[in-house]
Parts: sequence; C-alpha cells; structure tokens
Amino acid sequence: MTILDGKKVSNDIKDEIAAEVKKMQDKGEKVPHLAAIIVGNDGASLTYVGSKVKACERVGFESTLVQMSNTTSEIELLEKIKELNENPEIDGFIVQLPLPKQINEQKVLLAVNPDKDVDGFHPTNFGKMALDMSTFIPATPFGILELLDRYGVETKGKHTVVIGRSHIVGRPMSILMGRKGFPGNSTVTLTHSHTKNITQITSQADIIISALGVPNFLKAEMVKDDVVVIDVGITRVIDESRPRGYKIVGDVDFANVSKKASYITPVPGGVGPMTIAMLLKNTLLAREQHKL
Ligand code: NAP
Repeated sequence: MTILDGKKVSNDIKDEIAAEVKKMQDKGEKVPHLAAIIVGNDGASLTYVGSKVKACERVGFESTLVQMSNTTSEIELLEKIKELNENPEIDGFIVQLPLPKQINEQKVLLAVNPDKDVDGFHPTNFGKMALDMSTFIPATPFGILELLDRYGVETKGKHTVVIGRSHIVGRPMSILMGRKGFPGNSTVTLTHSHTKNITQITSQADIIISALGVPNFLKAEMVKDDVVVIDVGITRVIDESRPRGYKIVGDVDFANVSKKASYITPVPGGVGPMTIAMLLKNTLLAREQHKL
C-alpha cells in the first residue's frame, strides 16, 4: 500500500512555483498577485483563507486579503468584485465560500471575471473544462489529478466511483476522470445521497473519490482489494484531548480501508494541501495569460 502524500507533493509544487517566481523577479517582471475576499467570520473559512495567504508568501506571490463583515450586502460584495475585476495589479482572486444567507452565491460566481477566476467556478471556465479546453480547473479536482499523475496511478479503463456531486469537487471530478487523456479515460459512476445500494457500486470500483463530508462513511467491507482511495472529506470532530478542541477527519475509515488499498490519501495531509498548491498554480497561469 502506498500513501499518496499530498503534503510532500504540494511542497514540491510550491518549490517549482517559487522557482518560476524567482525567474520573473530576476527578469524584473511583475510577480503573480492573488486576492481573497472573505465575508463574515466563520472559523474554518478564516483558517482556509489564512493558509492561502501564507502559501502566497511561501512562493513569493503578492497577496491581498479583503475582509468584509457578516452584514455585507450583495451589492457591496458585487462592487468589491468589480473593483478586483478592474484592478490590473490583481491576477486572480477567490471569494471564500460559504457566503452569508443574504448573498446569492450564483450571482457572485457569475460576477467574477473568468480570466481572474482562479477557483475555476465560473460557468465559462466550468464549460471549457467540460469541453477539454485549456482553463482554470477547480483547485481540489486539479490537485487530485496532479496526485494521480505524480504517483503514476493508472486510470485508463478503470472504473472510478465518485461519491458526492458538489459543483466544486464531485461533479468536476466525474467529468475530469472521464476525459480523454491521463489522468482520465476512466469509466465513471457519480453517486449521491439518492444512490441506492452504494456498497454494490463502491465494491466494484478500481478508484474511489469520496467527497461527501461524512466521517468514516467508506468502510473496508465497501471496497475491493487493491482499490485506489482518494479521501476529500474534511470534518471537524470534537476532541477535548487536543489543544484546539477538535480533530480533522476524512470520509474514509483509514485504519481498515488502507489494509485493502493499493494507494490511499490520508486526512489530514492528502487532498487538503494539494488544493492550496493548485490554487497557486492557477494564479501563476493567470499571470502568464495576462502577460500575453
Ligand atoms: P457538499 O456540497 O457538502 O455535498 C456533499 C455531497 O455528498 C452531495 O452531493 C450529497 O448528495 C452527497 N452525499 C451526502 N450524503 C451522502 C450519502 N450518504 N451517500 C452518498 N452521497 C452522499 O460537498 P463538498 O463541498 O464537495 O464537500 C464534501 C467534503 O469535502 C466536505 O467534508 C468538505 O469539507 C470537503 N472538502 C475538502 C476539500 C479539500 O481541499 N480537501 C475541498 C472541498 C471540500 P446530494 O447532492 O444528493 O445532496
């Protein structure tokens, strides 16, 4: 069994990006600049955004954090997005989800200039991805592709089962695994909360990508020998023995599933760090495109 070490691979990717930034600096060029908008003070969202800003520093990017209050109106947020769309200094930006109830998420995603949409959530970029055109691929699915690629995990002709159909993970993942090319060329089954007899489906899978957010959902009896398991789930579970009072767990019963798997991602240290690395990669791509 091989652990797909997202922490290590993401560090390799960050080193590669830092080397690119160094070349830009040596040539006197502008370095990539990522901005992040966060609305409200949700603890997990603040942690994610903080890690993104820290990652920018690590690779030599410029970063801007825009913090808006929980009572921000939709119009105020749309105005801020327009500002970032028009600011030539900003190469790419993200709007951290979830947003407070008074704000329509779809309106916000549509307002982001697709050329700066480094999260790859705008319908233009999602459509390009589905049509095999070059674009920003959403960071989490992009990170999973990169992990499979760097470990040389065969995907051609395999049966990939994706659990969860969210717009940011499950749905794009199902499209990408079925694309022509590597990683891809899989036969894909997309499952969700209305799927019947899910164990019958997962136990036929060569590759399982689990993105539902239910701790220990995927158990050893649901998988076959030598399965490849990618655990996207991140759930905070109360744990008084830890200084922070909680621990992070995935969707997979790692202790038992890992005994049957050929490759498996841990949580933490698997898909999570890859997501941030690929957001940086998309921002680098945005800078390169803006140079043209
Ligand atoms: P989400 O929007 O929370 O949706 C969950 C999906 O799981 C839905 O499609 C839902 O089906 C499906 N589902 C729920 N219960 C199910 C069940 N019993 N059987 C089969 N499917 C079921 O998903 P998300 O935003 O993709 O997040 C999923 C998990 O990944 C969360 O733990 C999140 O924190 C984590 N995450 C991690 C990263 C990372 O960087 N590692 C990035 C993003 C998300 P319906 O559509 O029918 O409701």
